[in-house]
Amino acid sequence: MELCDKSAYDLSRLLRKREVSAREIVESVLLRIDEKEPLIHAYITVTRDTALAQADRADQLLAQGGDIAPLTGIPIAIKDLLCTRGIKTTCASKILANYVPPYNATVVDRLFQQGAILVGKTNMDEFAMGSSTENSAFGVTRNPVDPQRVPGGSSGGSAAGVAAGEAIAAIGSDTGGSIRQPASFCGIVGMKPTYGRVSRYGLIAYASSLDQVGPLCRSVEDCALLLNAISGHDRRDSTSVDTPCPDFLGSLDQDLNGVRIGLPKEYFVKGMDPAVKEKVMEAVSFLERNGAHVQEISLPHTPYAVGTYYLIATAEASSNLARYDAVKYGVRPPDEFEDIIAMYQQARSEGFGREVQRRIMLGTYVLSAGYYDAYYVKAQKARTLIREDFSKAFEEVDCLVTPVSPCLPFNLGEKVAEPLQMYLVDIYTVSANLAGVPAMSINCGTVGNLPVGLQIIGKPFDEEMLLRVAHAYQRLSGGNAHGF
Ligand code: GLN
Repeated sequence: MELCDKSAYDLSRLLRKREVSAREIVESVLLRIDEKEPLIHAYITVTRDTALAQADRADQLLAQGGDIAPLTGIPIAIKDLLCTRGIKTTCASKILANYVPPYNATVVDRLFQQGAILVGKTNMDEFAMGSSTENSAFGVTRNPVDPQRVPGGSSGGSAAGVAAGEAIAAIGSDTGGSIRQPASFCGIVGMKPTYGRVSRYGLIAYASSLDQVGPLCRSVEDCALLLNAISGHDRRDSTSVDTPCPDFLGSLDQDLNGVRIGLPKEYFVKGMDPAVKEKVMEAVSFLERNGAHVQEISLPHTPYAVGTYYLIATAEASSNLARYDAVKYGVRPPDEFEDIIAMYQQARSEGFGREVQRRIMLGTYVLSAGYYDAYYVKAQKARTLIREDFSKAFEEVDCLVTPVSPCLPFNLGEKVAEPLQMYLVDIYTVSANLAGVPAMSINCGTVGNLPVGLQIIGKPFDEEMLLRVAHAYQRLSGGNAHGF
């Protein structure tokens, strides 16, 4: 096994024992990037020089001995919607093609403080709108498991990069499934923490009441390691919650005895691929055989989740994306204009891709006078009902187990012409964002060679329960994160 295929957890132990150097790890990752990148295209920007310089600094620190930060020497990739000082941050959009932020997102600063090395900025759906990474202005990302297929989205570059050995771990964002679904499609681990757990300062906003930052990695241990590094209160993000963060690695070694797992009956309905259902049910019985108590529960408002999500997410996006006016932000066309409206029009028509334009229009419509009550206010009411479904379920159980996606990774191009089909792929993931609860995806096997993801959803601020169940599953089943 090459260094670039190992987990962060294993590499950090090798580094501490001086069996490898940070430079060797980074060089292994960069070599893999050279090999795979022409096909996979996980990155928008590879930060080769930064990575090598950071590796040398890590090696100096290691040589000095003493206490070393947990992520020292670990190469990490960051989705191209988190601001990195002096490094282009495009959000996979033409409108931000030349944007170089003057500051780091809090998550980026924290990773650096923990010793992590930045390998590059990963490809994504433009402004995180999509489920396949086909909506990037800079070309599609391919799934390393099968390059004819999508890696999922919108954090497809982060997931594909980790699965292909082009990064040891990665950071993504999840507004309606964008960490969990690509993790599922690429056979790795991904977590959307509780809304408020991780700072979003320096995250380019899509839908602010839903957006959350989280890790994509090779193992549950790595997920805990990264979560330790990035979570915690930040006074620069007013939605970040000032609540204690446990040592997430500490929750890993408990067993499943006494854990009450709920199976939401509305999640196993027709329309899902029977092969996915079979794998998920096999995982459920495995958990049951190993000490968990499984019971059926109901989340009765599930049928409204996708509609509610696409009304709220687009409404917030239409407001958040108003700042790209070619004055404050955005590339300004070189032409002469009659007036400022003509300039806005041309800059935004040329700068935004079709899906982003579609969502701005939909969002503006649902917020407009005369339609606001019928759509936006209605959606907010439905959101409350969906959130209450979860609170009621968590009176009876400790976590929920569901599929991540109703289908296997699909072919490139298969759903691009039909936005509604693409939106329906999000059916199992959007509710956790609407309710603000934590949720993660771990691999539970393959159909042919295509990975299937198992979703574990927990109570607010109880990421420890998710990690406990996920780690027990991985440890007891002998399943690693990626089977290739
Ligand atoms: N696929 C969903 C959307 O397109 C979710 C995206 C995300 O989580 N960023 O909005």
